[in-house]
Amino acid sequence: MAEPCTRHEPGSMQQRYDAVIVGARCAGASLAACLARGGMKVLMVDKARMPSDQVLSTNTLHATGVSVLDELGLGRRLRELCPAMNSMRYDWFGAIVDLDIRDRPEYCPRRYALDGLLQDVATDSGAELWDRTKVTGLVTHGGKVSGVFLTREDGSAHQVQADLVVGADGRASRVAQWVGSEELLGYAAPRGMYWSYWPAPDGWGSSNNFPAGMYLFRKGDHICVAFHAQDDQVLIGTLPLNQEIEPFRQRPLESLRRRVMNVPMLADIVSQAPSEPVRGYLAQRYFVRRPVGPGWLLVGDAGIHKDFVSGDGISEALLQAKSAAQCLLNGAPRERALELWWRHRDVEALPLFFHGQDIAEPGKRGTLDRLVLSRVAADPALKRRFAGTLIRQSNPYEMLKPSTAAGWVLSAALRGEPQVLGEFLSRGKRISTVRRELAKRQALLDALREPLQGGVGAKQNPAAA
Ligand SMILES: Cc1cc2nc3c(=O)[nH]c(=O)nc-3n(C[C@H](O)[C@H](O)[C@H](O)COP(=O)(O)OP(=O)(O)OC[C@H]3O[C@@H](n4cnc5c(N)ncnc54)[C@H](O)[C@@H]3O)c2cc1C
Repeated sequence: MAEPCTRHEPGSMQQRYDAVIVGARCAGASLAACLARGGMKVLMVDKARMPSDQVLSTNTLHATGVSVLDELGLGRRLRELCPAMNSMRYDWFGAIVDLDIRDRPEYCPRRYALDGLLQDVATDSGAELWDRTKVTGLVTHGGKVSGVFLTREDGSAHQVQADLVVGADGRASRVAQWVGSEELLGYAAPRGMYWSYWPAPDGWGSSNNFPAGMYLFRKGDHICVAFHAQDDQVLIGTLPLNQEIEPFRQRPLESLRRRVMNVPMLADIVSQAPSEPVRGYLAQRYFVRRPVGPGWLLVGDAGIHKDFVSGDGISEALLQAKSAAQCLLNGAPRERALELWWRHRDVEALPLFFHGQDIAEPGKRGTLDRLVLSRVAADPALKRRFAGTLIRQSNPYEMLKPSTAAGWVLSAALRGEPQVLGEFLSRGKRISTVRRELAKRQALLDALREPLQGGVGAKQNPAAA
């Protein structure tokens, strides 16, 4: 048997930790790093061999996620690995918005690299990593989770005690199932995704042919994306609706090519052989789960799984790890710290959860989106606000004054696009519903936060000293 990459072997049947984290990728390893830096005795466990790829992800990293990597001391390594995407083009229902994001670029690292860096920083900070180790159940005592049962690759069974068990075990989280975490919000996923990598053509991101580093296209129900990725590759993908998936399953490359041919600037690239086989994924459900309970916590996809069109899952996981560590390390009673973190998570994460659902939604909203985006494209202040939605500087549901949008819609209707009125009314209803949800979550957080000075919410503070 090859040597596992664990730094410490489990020696006894009954070891004790402050926290055991199930899953050692972007959520688990970053939380392990923050907690270990704060002085906690931490064990990460992953059933996979580490470092290794997480193949089902297209890996764009927003500036919010990059800021957490910077705090963990990994920013320089990220920038050495990946070209910065300094510009972004939305080609959305025929409106083109070019965004200059030089001051907060996006990156697209491979997960074996990113997760490996996070695991290294966690172990360097004092956390232990047991890879090729599967958690098979939870130890409970008096209704509280107090540890995990696990099995190593050699078949040996162990029990580890912990004050806190963290499920960072992804969207199909067994920890969430075992603790019976309820789904608070959720909907059936409408799309899958198929993608691969091609060598970046000369001038990607800086030439007339390829003016942006990152592209998002939508025409009717067809969505395609292209990102400048690690090793000077371009990741090109498409998001077919569920009912369109079968040909992709049968002939992934041919189907991907056929779809991307609708985007003339990418057609030549995908006609070449890709650098690796096409990957595909059919999403099932997006959800928000209750993330805390007696002795347990869920971070990353285990607690919130957002439509991947938002490109925010990794950044979300990193931000959650940072804020969870802030709450756990600030000295408040554990139950209260967990509750506070839950409410904070919801306030921070839900705008992009809802926004991802809206961006990917099938159906006919094209006239309104084209109208709004063409106005955004012509207004530098609005463009800045629009770019800020990706990095949580502005709320997508507060971007426009209703009266401003109504004025645009009325003049478009008078110019011969009456269908925009119906789209505007249904969009207005959706925005009101989302705002009510967000206001409820904010009120729950405000009710808790008052007595805890300087805790979570102080976003400028590093996760751990
Ligand atoms: C098609 C697709 C495209 C995406 N594109 C993007 C994107 O462009 N940008 C972005 O930010 N996000 C994207 N995402 C989302 C992103 O991949 C996830 O949000 C992110 O991987 C969540 O990280 P995590 O650490 O919570 O979980 P994961 O990355 O899923 O890691 C969970 C870990 O838990 C381990 N594990 C599970 N069960 C056990 C067990 N019982 N015992 C031990 N270990 C266990 C697994 O081995 C795994 O290593 C995409 C997702 C998909 C599906």
